[in-house]
Amino acid sequence: MSWRVFAETESVCPVCLRVIAAEKAVGEDGYVYMRKRCPEHGEFSALLWEGDFVDYLLWNTAPGGGNEPAVTSAAEKGCPYDCGLCERHESAGCCVLLELTERCSLGCPVCFASAGEARRPDPTLGEIAALYDMLMARGGPFNIQLSGGEPTMRDDLPEIVRLGRERGFGFFQLNTNGLRLADEPGCAETLRAAGVSCAFLQFDGLRDSTYMALRGRALLETKLRAIDRCAAAGLPVVLVPTLAPGVNADEIGEILRFALAHAPAVRGVHFQPISYFGRCALPAPERRLTIPRVLREIEAQTGGLMRREHFAGGGAESSYCSFHASYRRESDGTLRALPRRTGGCCCKSSEARDFVAGRWGACGDGEPEDGFDAFLREANERVFTVSGMVFQDADNLDLERLRRCYINEADPERGPVPFCAYNLTARDGRALYRG
Ligand code: SF4
Ligand code: SF4
Ligand SMILES: [Zn+2]
Repeated sequence: MSWRVFAETESVCPVCLRVIAAEKAVGEDGYVYMRKRCPEHGEFSALLWEGDFVDYLLWNTAPGGGNEPAVTSAAEKGCPYDCGLCERHESAGCCVLLELTERCSLGCPVCFASAGEARRPDPTLGEIAALYDMLMARGGPFNIQLSGGEPTMRDDLPEIVRLGRERGFGFFQLNTNGLRLADEPGCAETLRAAGVSCAFLQFDGLRDSTYMALRGRALLETKLRAIDRCAAAGLPVVLVPTLAPGVNADEIGEILRFALAHAPAVRGVHFQPISYFGRCALPAPERRLTIPRVLREIEAQTGGLMRREHFAGGGAESSYCSFHASYRRESDGTLRALPRRTGGCCCKSSEARDFVAGRWGACGDGEPEDGFDAFLREANERVFTVSGMVFQDADNLDLERLRRCYINEADPERGPVPFCAYNLTARDGRALYRG
């Protein structure tokens, strides 16, 4: 294969995680790859963009810069070894994951947190309060993602949310497999009343064979019940499919149609093409899913209802991290694409924060609404979003992209750690940061 190199960056060796130079190059097939060489472990290449070079360059609409973190630590060892937001980091951040437990009601063959059996006790309420305070002191409030493990394993979850609200945080996204929401009457109501803004529901498709492959259990009926319970409780739902080639990449259109049919209870779909970190029983294929391929599938599988040109790349983060489109559901049942929101308008993180909170959150928090509140709620409920994030793993990690990461894990010792650094694992499973 002959290569045309067009850019240089830095990455890590997937075997030993040392920092090595990397090239971006166009291969004979016309697609964009990352190529790199470790002096000890040899050469590696990973597909970055299953689309052409011009398409790759045009996708980059986020200017970057002007959004540095409020508080940083010294950069000593070099990226990605100085996390806890060092002085080289280029994003103030928008969302923060709080890992409330390592316990989980599932033991999925695919899990970035490798959750299931708890290796350490859950953080206490006092420790969580300290995390909230740390985040406030480091530029908060941020949008909080209640995460794990499975956060609903904790009976004190409503208290954790109330504690965060008291400390000034306004948006709480529950990252959940939905089992407890489905099986426990009143659970969605209690969480909504405590101040949970939306449920980010693991929802990989409409076939039980998909759940068997990714979750080890037939779960479709449970997922449908979780959605019904959230709808009854007024807790907005975003469906979050992990997309794996050969498993459910052909279900994209079905998932989108299902989500639209369940709007406004379901506010949107957030795709996560699978990354090969954490516990991943699936081997990384040569043709891993990249943004252009997912967008082509969306267009083809929805029969052109949702089209490639409706989508733009990330703005607060690197454009190559994510994609999104927003639609308005008209009263006659048609779907109208809203203007693409590109680069400049969300490179201030408070705006990214409000954007995330506005498109997915519950309005009003149970308080009486006046006419204008009702208008806003209705406007919000008519918006349907389709988005996705392509997490980086040791094969395709681009340190330039990582330095602009706006999603952090709250670590009690290190402070906010960029998600893709926190979850980075070598081929043998050794983690850079995660316990
Ligand atoms: S990812 Fe950000 S915080 Fe971590 S070492 Fe690199 S620049 Fe510093
Ligand atoms: S979590 Fe990973 S993919 Fe998402 S913004 Fe951060 S670096 Fe990019
Ligand atoms: Zn190496």
